[in-house]
Amino acid sequence: MSSISGATRVAGVIGDPVRHSLSPILHNAAYRELALDWVYVAFEVPDGATRGAVDAMRTLGLAGLSVTMPHKSAAAAAADRLSDDARTLGSVNTLTLEADDMIAGDSTDGEGFLRSLRDAGCSVAGARVVLLGAGGAARAVAHALGRAGANVTVSARRAPAAVTAAELARGGTVPWDERAAAAGAADVVVNATPVGMGGDGVPLPLDALRHGQVLADLVYHPLETPLLSGARARGAIVVDGLGMLVHQAALQVERWTAKPAPVEAMRAAAERQLRRET
Ligand code: NAP
Repeated sequence: MSSISGATRVAGVIGDPVRHSLSPILHNAAYRELALDWVYVAFEVPDGATRGAVDAMRTLGLAGLSVTMPHKSAAAAAADRLSDDARTLGSVNTLTLEADDMIAGDSTDGEGFLRSLRDAGCSVAGARVVLLGAGGAARAVAHALGRAGANVTVSARRAPAAVTAAELARGGTVPWDERAAAAGAADVVVNATPVGMGGDGVPLPLDALRHGQVLADLVYHPLETPLLSGARARGAIVVDGLGMLVHQAALQVERWTAKPAPVEAMRAAAERQLRRET
């Protein structure tokens, strides 16, 4: 961002809480690198006020909004049109004000996750993937993995939620108590629970992991979770959660600006911020 003028385009994120979001860091780094007269800000919007925020987007001419908790489902309901992924998931993380004044909803989390795996040289077509957790992030990841040809098994504390997530990948489930054996036999293990946030805890016994497996953690605070260090020590290929966060934001930048996103500059800015916070 150079200096803000009357011509500056505004984008942002709606969520609650949102003050510690890394999205402004990621997006403003991208706009700076692309020399665009754009700025990206955080809007704290309480639960229940999603539709008002979506309508304000049109009134104020906001170019795009990222959407985080607790608004992802309500924003899907408030958008004028949805991408296939967003319709299937009933959830959006991206709103775009289009040329016809309509608001389009997309979900870039799943594709962002696949791109983070690709950065680590991991292709999931035909791979056996065990996905831990069955919340919003797990559902987006399950859907993307299934579409990319992975054989997905979901394990979560609540069996009905695991079934719902697994169905998005045409996959199966294993009981939470049996996750270690399933993870040991997998090519790729993904943690989509919050366990490990703040640096505490692992979502499965580390001795379940083995050399040559890919271990992806969606948690990115801290960047190196206990699960990632344990997996690395056992010779696994590790993928941290910042890759997914950067790529889902990069896809938003591309959707809104129609320019290739400067992924490396975005990641570097986020890493600098995370280092400041830890
Ligand atoms: P969510 O909708 O609340 O779902 C969390 C899932 O984890 C649920 O299945 C929940 O099970 C399970 N879980 C929670 N605590 C657990 C525990 N102590 N032991 C076992 N399972 C537990 O959350 P979400 O939006 O999917 O996010 C999940 C994680 O992914 C968060 O840490 C979030 O920060 C991260 N995330 C990262 C990115 C990224 O770009 N890297 C994007 C989205 C989310 P119950 O239903 O039984 O509670």
